[in-house]
Amino acid sequence: MEYKLINCDSVIKKITKKDSLFHGSYCVDPYQNCEFGCHYCDSSFEKTIYVKKNIREILEKELQTIKNGRIIIGSVNDPYQTVENKFQLTHTVLETLKDYNFPCHILTKSPLILNDLPLLSQLESIITISMTSLTDQVVRIFEPDAPSPTARLQTLQNLRDHGLKAGLALMPVLPFIVESEMESIVHAASHANAQYLLHKHLELKGDQERHFRDLIKTYYPHLLPNYDTLYENNYKPQEKYIQEINAILKKYCKKFNISDTIPF
Ligand code: SF4
Repeated sequence: MEYKLINCDSVIKKITKKDSLFHGSYCVDPYQNCEFGCHYCDSSFEKTIYVKKNIREILEKELQTIKNGRIIIGSVNDPYQTVENKFQLTHTVLETLKDYNFPCHILTKSPLILNDLPLLSQLESIITISMTSLTDQVVRIFEPDAPSPTARLQTLQNLRDHGLKAGLALMPVLPFIVESEMESIVHAASHANAQYLLHKHLELKGDQERHFRDLIKTYYPHLLPNYDTLYENNYKPQEKYIQEINAILKKYCKKFNISDTIPF
């Protein structure tokens, strides 16, 4: 991975559609592109991580011009990639949000968020840890450089032990690969004291679709016809499948007493 320091012109993006999943009004991504290499994600295709070195200055300016609202940190690129150890941009963003009294919702797969525990307790924060599978072998195929499922669950548990609002996102749901694990995943979330479990289906668009299909061809060739049928002429799986997954996860959330939306 290569890192490039850049000056950005703007950092806050307004969320224009209603965000019923993360409940955000704006989003901020301290880094551009991501080193965790998830094969279903556009952010992993570039091998250069752009580090927005003037982020504090721009963020301060922009926060003074917008209405207060929840800022989603990491909706496009993970804010706690290992590059955070060196440049601390996410830490800087949190400090700035604290100074200006803005709430945030952080999305990450990384235990590095634990370095910011003291700061997170001082602002209005929600943290969602995302995962796709409890099985290391599956994770190594689809998210080769991301933290292990065990590390992610321990991170979630640790956040909750410190009294922070936090939950798990099963995202994306990998069709025909993860269904058999769904009950165990919700159980594991409950065991880690997650307050909620969010989920979203896998979307396959453009280059990412070709890339993902190549991966299925390599590791799960017998599933290709199922993918062809499920995604026939669409970037989303068939609506019937989405509804079935929603219903199954709702049932498990009820069983393990976890909300299936952010309850605050
Ligand atoms: S960790 Fe998130 S942003 Fe990074 S490659 Fe994976 S899905 Fe994309």
